[in-house]
Amino acid sequence: MIDLRSDTVTLPSDEMRVAARDADVGDDVYGDDPTVNELETRTAEMVGKEAALFVPSGTMGNQIAARVHTSPGQEALVDAEAHVYKWEVGGFAELSGLQVRAFDAGDRAAPTPEQVREHAREESLHVAGTGVMCLENTHNARGGVAIPKADIDAAAEAAHDLGIPVHLDGARMFNACVALDEDPTAMVENVDTVMFCLSKGLGAPVGSILAGPEEFIEDATRVRKQFGGGMRQAGIIAAPGLVALDNVERLADDHENARLLAEGLDAVEGLSVPTPDTNIVVVDSEHAGLTAEEFVDLCGEVGVLGGPFGEYHTRFTTNLNVSRADVEEAVSLVADAVESR
Ligand SMILES: *Cc1c(COP(=O)(O)O)cnc(C)c1O
Repeated sequence: MIDLRSDTVTLPSDEMRVAARDADVGDDVYGDDPTVNELETRTAEMVGKEAALFVPSGTMGNQIAARVHTSPGQEALVDAEAHVYKWEVGGFAELSGLQVRAFDAGDRAAPTPEQVREHAREESLHVAGTGVMCLENTHNARGGVAIPKADIDAAAEAAHDLGIPVHLDGARMFNACVALDEDPTAMVENVDTVMFCLSKGLGAPVGSILAGPEEFIEDATRVRKQFGGGMRQAGIIAAPGLVALDNVERLADDHENARLLAEGLDAVEGLSVPTPDTNIVVVDSEHAGLTAEEFVDLCGEVGVLGGPFGEYHTRFTTNLNVSRADVEEAVSLVADAVESR
């Protein structure tokens, strides 16, 4: 099996397993876990924020951020293709009492300053004010688009001018930084808070980081406890997370493999595959007469796993456990399967 369903399917390395076994631990709800504390200190430094919080998942990180930034009844301003809107189970509404104002940010994947001003709402007797704006980089649903710092900055500045805080869903922010050769600290310097996943391209088994100002992280720690994310000897899972921080530079390999995969599949009659910015490859199989479900089944039968990503679109995600040779094999298996139908 060549598993390209997601970069979350990676298995922990031996080094991660040893790190978990040997980790110094304590009760993290008491702040006593030295490994969690080290992970939080190091990751805060990596993204140039005052403080960071280790959370069980990216979803929890985003949901905590929304809760801390807003009051119930406010709006969250998001792109219509945002993960926080499409794939977090309505959490903003249920967990934070927010209504979402979703607009189409287009292929650029980040709102222009004009779009921010157009869709932001000022609170009044009749109007729910905008409590937070969320950006996403890389942008998953738009095909792993790496958004340049300048576009993040322009959107954030427009929101800040209106007094709106900005949260970045940076589940794959290091993919964006590597693809654009941008320093992570610079990439997020103008957003108030950022979440990134250790459990995706970086290859850790569990966990994400929420980073921001000291005071924000104090509030976030309380909300994490309320959401059930206060963990005890969490150094066991933080230790592999520390090892995963060494995997930032090698994301370039995933990007190269994704380019190879895209080029190879694009050459197959009926498949159309744009060149990816990062590790997410989106295949359009409409002209092969295959729906995404049919294409995914066909690929699965020959041992290549992907996921439906729309009616005719399928997502393949390169990752730590997939080599260049695997990608070459995947291309030939899928090409044969499509052509010999
Ligand atoms: C995966 C993902 C998340 C959520 O992370 P989980 O750890 O799966 O909860 C959030 N945002 C984006 C863009 C993602 O791709």
